[in-house]
Amino acid sequence: MEQRKRYNEFSDFLKGIFPFKVQKISIDAGFTCPNRDGTKGSGGCTYCNNQTFSPLYCQVKEPVPIQLTEGISFFSRKYPEMRYLAYFQAYTNTYGELQELKKKYEEALSFPGVEGIIIGTRPDCMPDELLDYFEAISREKFVMIEYGVESTLDGTLQRINRGHSMADSEAAISRTADRGIYTGVHMILGLPGESREEILQHAEKLSLLPIHTIKLHQLQLIRHTRMAREYADNPEQFRLYSVDEYVDLAIDFIERLNPSMVIERFISQSPKELLIAPDWGIKNYEFTAKIKKRLIERDTYQGRLFTDH
Ligand code: SF4
Repeated sequence: MEQRKRYNEFSDFLKGIFPFKVQKISIDAGFTCPNRDGTKGSGGCTYCNNQTFSPLYCQVKEPVPIQLTEGISFFSRKYPEMRYLAYFQAYTNTYGELQELKKKYEEALSFPGVEGIIIGTRPDCMPDELLDYFEAISREKFVMIEYGVESTLDGTLQRINRGHSMADSEAAISRTADRGIYTGVHMILGLPGESREEILQHAEKLSLLPIHTIKLHQLQLIRHTRMAREYADNPEQFRLYSVDEYVDLAIDFIERLNPSMVIERFISQSPKELLIAPDWGIKNYEFTAKIKKRLIERDTYQGRLFTDH
């Protein structure tokens, strides 16, 4: 078994911060999305069906402490020593009245065993007052903001109705990282209209930004979304990858990635009943094993092709 790490793994990143094991607990705090209610846009991103975000234990929007109790009891039976990060995942978790937002974060931060929070949000939805708050909290607890960047191309962002630009993403990332707050991004590989070269250029552009962690997801076509209808009408406009093709695409991507960045995941798994394609039927850890095997076969590693200009 090869000992050398060929990319920066999220578990090692957490081990470098915490002297104990930590587990993320997903929370649906009942927030909404400004790209659905007309504030930033309407109709939402063309690929989004928010039912795909939440594991079973947080589908009903119970209060944050109840969701944490349920999530934690799921893990603590097996690992009594485990500590937790509350992951505000569904919709836009910085969209709302400041006091209401803080109340929900604090319910999580004060919950026994919770060591910090991870906040998933949009790059155009991070007011300075909230960053002031996160900066203050981050001196005591772990705080990470995870921005849905998805693509670095404005043409793609318009096509998928994201309602924000790449300039918004760059500004949000820099404003957050400048405060000393852990800053993560989420990207979708294989959005319609993007060539392989354009996908790989995302890695080069992101590598010049102060990003700590990155999550990659393959494009998935989800039932009851606008993109599903586009796919039914014009399937030739979509390039869906096989597992092995995507393994090589993801490796090509991380070869160009800044070697300081931490890679949290390579794929996502939407519930089978909502997924139209591609139906890989592969678990996250199985995919990660494929990536590691292929990195050895290709004798390559994260950042091999990275240049800082
Ligand atoms: S992906 Fe996020 S920003 Fe886009 S519509 Fe869904 S919840 Fe809103």
